[in-house]
Amino acid sequence: MSAKPRILLVEDESGIADTLQYVLASDGFTPVWCATGQEALASFAGEPPALVILDVGLPDINGFALFKQLQSLPGGERVPMLFLTARSDEIDRVVGLELGADDYIAKPFSPRELVARVRTILRRSARPAPTASAGPGTAAPAATAGTLSHGPFVVDDERRRIRYYGQALELSRYEYGLLRLLVRRPGRVFTRDELLDQVWDDASASLDRTVDAHVKTLRAKLKAVAPGVEAIRTLRGTGYALEEELPTQPS
Ligand code: CA
Repeated sequence: MSAKPRILLVEDESGIADTLQYVLASDGFTPVWCATGQEALASFAGEPPALVILDVGLPDINGFALFKQLQSLPGGERVPMLFLTARSDEIDRVVGLELGADDYIAKPFSPRELVARVRTILRRSARPAPTASAGPGTAAPAATAGTLSHGPFVVDDERRRIRYYGQALELSRYEYGLLRLLVRRPGRVFTRDELLDQVWDDASASLDRTVDAHVKTLRAKLKAVAPGVEAIRTLRGTGYALEEELPTQPS
């Protein structure tokens, strides 16, 4: 008897909210509906949900701003979030993905499709619980277990963290997945399709543009650490690769 995952639904249109609550509940979820950003923040702070469905157009706060506020709450970084927007607007899509949202659905949408996306996101975000507070007598894993490195990059899978020239990068889920894949195979050219396949579990729901948007934000974060180093190479019309030779010092 596993608990039903709680899905926080932030949507001011009651018609849409009713439909989604019905579909989510009949699919084995516990929907929690909030019509405003303030309610959503209070609900999230009380108990973080398994996933958030977030309307971009809310009466009291822009959905993107709310996304950032939710992410800054305790546990917020770990909760997947999916945007709903009234317009099939490319700008909204790119902004949402650049912020690090897990997915994006344009209205009007099929409630069934939305629930399928929710399932996919929850499946891929399900990871073994960290073992940091294992009981007495349990040996702690070696600090170097699950790390891999290339030049200035050190990937720590247990903490899901990547260091670059000694600095820990603040990465979204997909930025982490992309960079980890590139660091594992320096020099290997990955096409956008390969990156979609390997980093996004539900590649059919994503677009080539999705990869580009995430590489762009990733590069900006690398530049902030080492402005003179171009770690990710673009192969026009093909894809991306990590430079094999990287300077030992940032520049
Ligand atoms: Ca709305």
